[in-house]
Amino acid sequence: MKFDFLIVGSGLFGATISCILKAKGKKCFMIDKRSHIGGNVYTESINGINVHKYGAHIFHTSNRLVWEFVNSFVEFNRYTNSPVANFKGKLYNLPFNMNTFYQMWGVTTPKQAAEIIALQKKESGVVNPKNLEEQAISLIGKDIYYTLIKNYTEKQWGRKATELPAFIIKRLPVRFTFDNNYFNDRYQGVPIGGYTKLVERMLDGIEVRLNSDYFEDLDYYNSISDKIIYTGEIDRFFNYCFGHLEYRTVHFETQLLYGVENYQGNSVVNYTDAETPYTRIIEHKHFEFGKQPDTVISKEYSKEWKLGDEPYYPVNNDKNSKLYFRYKELAEKQDKVIFGGRLAEYKYYDMHQVIEKALMMADFLL
Ligand code: FAD
Ligand code: UDP
Repeated sequence: MKFDFLIVGSGLFGATISCILKAKGKKCFMIDKRSHIGGNVYTESINGINVHKYGAHIFHTSNRLVWEFVNSFVEFNRYTNSPVANFKGKLYNLPFNMNTFYQMWGVTTPKQAAEIIALQKKESGVVNPKNLEEQAISLIGKDIYYTLIKNYTEKQWGRKATELPAFIIKRLPVRFTFDNNYFNDRYQGVPIGGYTKLVERMLDGIEVRLNSDYFEDLDYYNSISDKIIYTGEIDRFFNYCFGHLEYRTVHFETQLLYGVENYQGNSVVNYTDAETPYTRIIEHKHFEFGKQPDTVISKEYSKEWKLGDEPYYPVNNDKNSKLYFRYKELAEKQDKVIFGGRLAEYKYYDMHQVIEKALMMADFLL
């Protein structure tokens, strides 16, 4: 059997690109080494609650085409992400906004908040932030940095905030309004019925083989298609010839709590102290405003990736960026293989960015 495209990986990059290619008449065959489709957005139902198996996923975008694309498969709800931070028992709203400033300093006007931040920034002496710590202090001052950022960041990344790139913290909005929306994007929500339903519909009519690792039958897979779209780790593709890229992996302690209707009153509560070993607790039912009599919670722990673990977060510091570019040079010389997605591009992409890139790549290939 000859296919136009073999797609390695059924995450959002693979699902988007194969869906478009198939619609344009291309013959696609998809494999995934996991036992399910969807990659990291996979959701599974536990007692009627859609559990985000690989961590909390909230869809957000300002790109109307991307929003219409995902909504053409499944309806999205009006979920707005508003995580709460727990620091030694005291709660703070996220992202950093007037509610947070009130909770931190008792200030009630934007002017008062801005004055405190400006003073703390001045005292810190940071002019051109070179790392995450400097960037955070220059955005919101030292009190918020030490209460809500430093420990959480160091737990999540396993590195000192001074050794991490500044861009990571710029993901979070800083606002002088009473607005707890974690994102600034125009569109936001969670697919009603879970992400697996979304991906299932994207893959409608495409042959998918699960539990199949590309590298375990390389010659066969290379022989059955003209082109390959590869969404796995780029360093693995080249047999780690220049060494390993670093990733963070996370693992979840998931519990079904019988008879507990509402455990924490919010989908996501971050633990921003250094002592709590996990970074956050997710209560899955709240993503879809669930009214089930029970609840499912997941405690999220972060650790350094080692061979055999699932890679979750690329660690985009200087060392890894240099290594990635060496692999990228090799990738560009492969005329049969296209590399795309969070792992193959070694980029801290969100879902909408992965979809956007896949749509562009599909256009280019067609
Ligand atoms: P993946 O989903 O990783 O898919 C790659 C697939 O390839 C996997 O299924 C894997 O099994 C398969 N594969 C790899 N190697 C092989 C091989 N050798 N053979 C066969 N199959 C292979 N984004 C948001 O927009 N909002 C959020 O709230 C959000 N929260 C997140 C929370 C966490 C904890 C994490 C880690 C990420 C989050 N993201 C979020 C990002 C989002 O998960 C990614 O942008 C998106 O899922 C990436 O899709 P992908 O297809 O590139 O990769
Ligand atoms: N962050 C933090 N405190 C928080 C939440 C986030 O310091 O309570 C920092 C942390 O460094 C994290 C980054 O902000 O890596 C980006 O957070 P985001 O929630 O976007 O991370 P993700 O959802 O990708 O894990």
